[in-house]
Amino acid sequence: MAPEREPVFPFTAIVGQEQMKLALLLVAVDPGIGGVLIRGHKGTAKSTAVRALAAVLPPIEVVDGCPFSCHPQAPQGLCEVCQAKGPLSSVVRPPRLVDLPMGATEDRVVGSIDLEAALKEGRRHFLPGLLAQAHRGILYIDEVNLLPDHLVDVLLDAAAMGVNYVEREGISFSHRARFALVGTMNPEEGEVRPQLLDRFGLMAAVEELRDPTLRAEVVRRRLDFERDPRAFVGRWQDEEERLRHRLAAAQALLPSVTAEEGLLEHIARLCLAYRIEGMRGDITIYRAALAHAALQGRDRARKEDVEAVAPLALAHRGRPPDEAPPAGPSSPPARGPEGLKGWPSVEGERHIAPIPNPAPSITWKEGKPSLTVMRGGRRTTVVGLSGRGRYISARIPSGPVRDLALDATLRAAALRGARAGPKTPVRLSPADVREKVREGTAGALIVFVIDASGSMAARQRMALAKGMILEMLAESYRRRDQVALVYARGQGAQVILPPTGSLERASRLLTAIPVGGATPLAAGLFRARWLLERRRWLYPYTPCLLVLATDGRANKSLYGTDPYLEALQEAMAIRRKGFRAVVLDCEASAYPIGLTRGLAEALGAPSIPLDPRATPSLAQTLKLMAR
Ligand SMILES: [Zn+2]
Repeated sequence: MAPEREPVFPFTAIVGQEQMKLALLLVAVDPGIGGVLIRGHKGTAKSTAVRALAAVLPPIEVVDGCPFSCHPQAPQGLCEVCQAKGPLSSVVRPPRLVDLPMGATEDRVVGSIDLEAALKEGRRHFLPGLLAQAHRGILYIDEVNLLPDHLVDVLLDAAAMGVNYVEREGISFSHRARFALVGTMNPEEGEVRPQLLDRFGLMAAVEELRDPTLRAEVVRRRLDFERDPRAFVGRWQDEEERLRHRLAAAQALLPSVTAEEGLLEHIARLCLAYRIEGMRGDITIYRAALAHAALQGRDRARKEDVEAVAPLALAHRGRPPDEAPPAGPSSPPARGPEGLKGWPSVEGERHIAPIPNPAPSITWKEGKPSLTVMRGGRRTTVVGLSGRGRYISARIPSGPVRDLALDATLRAAALRGARAGPKTPVRLSPADVREKVREGTAGALIVFVIDASGSMAARQRMALAKGMILEMLAESYRRRDQVALVYARGQGAQVILPPTGSLERASRLLTAIPVGGATPLAAGLFRARWLLERRRWLYPYTPCLLVLATDGRANKSLYGTDPYLEALQEAMAIRRKGFRAVVLDCEASAYPIGLTRGLAEALGAPSIPLDPRATPSLAQTLKLMAR
């Protein structure tokens, strides 16, 4: 028999968090709302809520042994496995909570062709993936902001359609996949890009409890639960059972719920007032309002249902009617009260100046971007950039194959019937060859090292670096780039901004940094190398770039010898480790003495004059150089 489940903290015992709870209940009644995103800082028990929801869902009836959890009297029909069977026996079980593991491949998520069966027996057999497992249950993605974009796309597609379509090696397969998609994220770990954000039906932010009585109650219940989970769950059993019945009734009622006269127009006006683009907001609010009515036991959705669900559908899509429109096309979108707080200072910082003459430029040569800078009045190409990224799928090559996808090639051969009998080897034909399609969006780490020498100049360097960092992070929804800042000042070097992809965090940490004082440049470079090496050790394929903004005036020693020579030695060590670097030359004097050039040569790095007018384009350039 199934093992007894670990006691789960009861949903009804969660204190406060009404918005989050409502969003979860709505999507449990109608998974077609299209997924819930829960935003909250670390330790806010987001996953507790998701597990609690799974535990309170009404049980479901499924065909015994069906890998796709078919309903025995499925109105939409049965899967191939069930169709091939004779009389079906059914079982009743709780809906599943499927955790999407970090690093799951697309095959693992959507399912794949059984390679072994294909190679051994030449049989085409579909191996169900996590979407099949999650059918009629919950698919939970912790840290959804760290998931590769293509996977989030696939998941949101399936969640919205209720069907998983798989196209692999010339085989199409589809099965029902109606599940409540719940993603959680910590905004400090980076954002979800706006295009994906919009695809989540609802978003709820975990609220900070300000009432001391409520806070105390949270702690009291948590401790009670930890002391004796079973007894605690027992005390909440009646509440849980009531909610379970309410959910079951709402699920049964939903198909017959209708909207009152004029409700769609009311929703449309609301979405227009919030300047929602596209129709997704309207549709989500409509569906959520019906689910809300069903939860209240009504078969008619009214304006009050719309009022109740609208904040969950609007927070991540639009702007409140009284707010000024964004200043430019690249402005970050509004994202609820929590996100909005961080933006104003960021906006001020990002609109430093237009770019009259962007110093470096990106050109495309043979399909690859390369960086060109002006040097001595001539344009010279400094870096050839090549792409590298996660292997996401395979395709039939159009030219010579540089990146063979062995697994897909073998599958293609097997499915063609490349094996005459069980003891004969697989014979590949040129038509079987497949090449890898890679995701070009592996995040990069860009480490800035800023020196403190000359308080006026240092202040300017810091402001420019800050502008660039925020510019980079505002743009990094698509790519999961991270930025760090090391400050060489005083006795040593300080990591002011540890690697982060969060604009919110960067703008918070990069305020009011004191400038001036001794410049231990060697210590700064040493610290930066440590960050880079650590990153490479953790994620061997992450592209890394060191950006050194300096006037070259090192005046504080790390080892008790000449400070400048020590900085050169550290620079050479970074070069020997194979890290790429750029020097932003801040040697402003009319008679440069070549200190920065020396450092650039030691790093094997191009040197670009730091021009305040070129900050935005420089930020773009550095990001491209990092890949
Ligand atoms: Zn079935």
